[in-house]
This record gives sequence, C-alpha cells and structure tokens, in this order.
Amino acid sequence: MVHHKDEQTLVIIKPDGVQRSLVGEIIKRIERVGLKLVGLKMSVPSEDMIEKLYTLNPEWRRMTGEKVIEGYKSKSLKPPSEDPLELTDIILRNLKKYMTSGPVIFMVWKGAHAVSLVRKIVGGTEPLTSDVGTIRGDFVLDSYQMSDTDGRAVRNLVHASGSVEEASDEIKHWFKKDELINYRLVQEQILYDVDLDGILE
Ligand code: ADP
Ligand code: MG
Repeated sequence: MVHHKDEQTLVIIKPDGVQRSLVGEIIKRIERVGLKLVGLKMSVPSEDMIEKLYTLNPEWRRMTGEKVIEGYKSKSLKPPSEDPLELTDIILRNLKKYMTSGPVIFMVWKGAHAVSLVRKIVGGTEPLTSDVGTIRGDFVLDSYQMSDTDGRAVRNLVHASGSVEEASDEIKHWFKKDELINYRLVQEQILYDVDLDGILE
C-alpha cells in the first residue's frame, strides 16, 4: 500500500476558471492545506481527450444519469428521460463543448488524503448548493436549473478526481511519467515526521 503522504489527485482548472482569473486563488486554496504540486501544464484539450476523461470510469455514465434523475425527482419534477444513459449522452456532449472552449490548467497534487481533501476544498458539483467556503460555493453562481434551461454543462470552475482509483487513471490520461516531479518540500517534515526534532536550537 502507498503511504498516505504519497496519494495523488488530478485537478483541472476549467476554461471558466482561467477566464475568471481564478488560477492563483484555486492554487492557493489547495496549496495552503499542505498538499504538494508535482505536475502542472496548460493546453486546450481535444473533445476526444475530454470524452475519454469522463468515461475512464465505466460506471460514470450510469451514475451521472441516475444523479440527474434523482435531482429532478427530489424537486418533484419529471426528468426529461427515465434512461440514465440518454441523459448522460446530453451531459457529455455539453461537457465536451465546455471543456474545449479555451485553455485549461492541469495539475497533479500529492499528499495525505489528496483526493478527499481536494474534493472538500472544491465543493459539490452544483455551485448553487455547494458549501460556502468551497471554491465552487464561493466563486460561481451556476445551477442545474440554469444550465438545463440554456442547454449547457454546469460551469463550476474545477475538475477534481473522485476517488484514488479514478485519480490514478486520470493522471495517466493527461501526464507522462517524466512530467511528474519527485521532490521534497521542507514543510513535509512538520506535516509527516513522527518526531518534531530539530526545531529548538
Ligand atoms: P464532479 O465534477 O463534481 O465530479 P460529475 O463527475 O458528476 O461531477 O460531472 C462532471 C461535470 O459534468 C460536472 O463538473 C459538471 O460540469 C457537468 N455536469 C454534471 N452533471 C450535470 C448536470 N446534471 N447538468 C449539467 N452539467 C452537469
Ligand atoms: Mg466526477
């Protein structure tokens, strides 16, 4: 098993995050908890790479469609279709358009509980309902209702891997091995060493 401190996660600052000039703010929020940036690049992704990113997990289509149906039903509304896969097709089409509309930033962050910590910092998928204090809750105002009305993906600034397995596949999808850098941060001694030796003179 990998040590806690070696867990990695993929973060993408989506085109709206770059356009809103939130690159520094987003990096700052992830950096300040103690996670370490080990890979970073910028590009305009292709539709093909985006479709593959979201379908790396074979369950994503079903799960995402079911989440949409549940969302409608919880508001006592009739979903546009009862077939989760049909709904996911629409989301995927809109997502490809959204994610390829401009430059994005790809990052790999490493450290204890990297996956769940970054998800906590990023917040829930829908900005309207994501918690105050999270990136999506603090910096954007989109909702499913508005994105549905306008026939587009919900704009939520950031992508972050949902699980350790997902992270491993997603990192391989975007980064070559030699694009990730193995190095030590001085602060890791304070974060991880068993004894806090060497502080007092
Ligand atoms: P997350 O990014 O929080 O992991 P998902 O993996 O479920 O969320 O979905 C991927 C992305 O697809 C979301 O970040 C969002 O941009 C878009 N999306 C998901 N569900 C919907 C929806 N019901 N309507 C519009 N866009 C959606
Ligand atoms: Mg996801």
